[in-house]
Amino acid sequence: MKASAMFHSAQRYAALMAHATGLPNDDLYAQIIASQLDGIGALPATLGLQEADYSALLSCHFPGFEPYIQVPENYVVTRAPEYHDLLTLLLEHAPGNLPPWMAHIVAQGCMADNHLWQDLGLCSREDLSLLMSQNFPQLAKLNEHDMKWKKFLYKQLCEREGINACRAPSCEYCTDYLKCFGTED
Ligand code: SF4
Repeated sequence: MKASAMFHSAQRYAALMAHATGLPNDDLYAQIIASQLDGIGALPATLGLQEADYSALLSCHFPGFEPYIQVPENYVVTRAPEYHDLLTLLLEHAPGNLPPWMAHIVAQGCMADNHLWQDLGLCSREDLSLLMSQNFPQLAKLNEHDMKWKKFLYKQLCEREGINACRAPSCEYCTDYLKCFGTED
């Protein structure tokens, strides 16, 4: 973990990993859950999952870890209109042997304003790239030029709709190049 994230979430992360079952995604889920519980990132309580799904995720990856979760009464997750399109895109590219939790979490993370790895509470962009290649391999392969992940996902939606929202004919000549491909620190 990066020092900044360790400073806030190391204890919680360690507590989760002490219960980890050794499944793929244990480490990524531990980062995401620890950050959310410590108020890092932009994910809401239960990561935007239904409570039953959140409990199932914990039971599957970290059995015995029981965080105290206070879900506010009348709790409603705010989602932009494109949430369902993003979720559909991610679910369509998720291998059938994995539960759909990560697709819901990533779509939820796209609703916030910072870099996706930050909004998900991950420690680095490298962790997000790993998350994408582990959970949405075919989709991740399409990002061959290493576009910023949130930009990349939204661009997939535009292409599906046949919309070209870009002002330049190609990325190479675009004045917004750094907005799409610059560093994500
Ligand atoms: S760099 Fe420019 S042309 Fe390429 S995706 Fe971004 S906005 Fe569109």
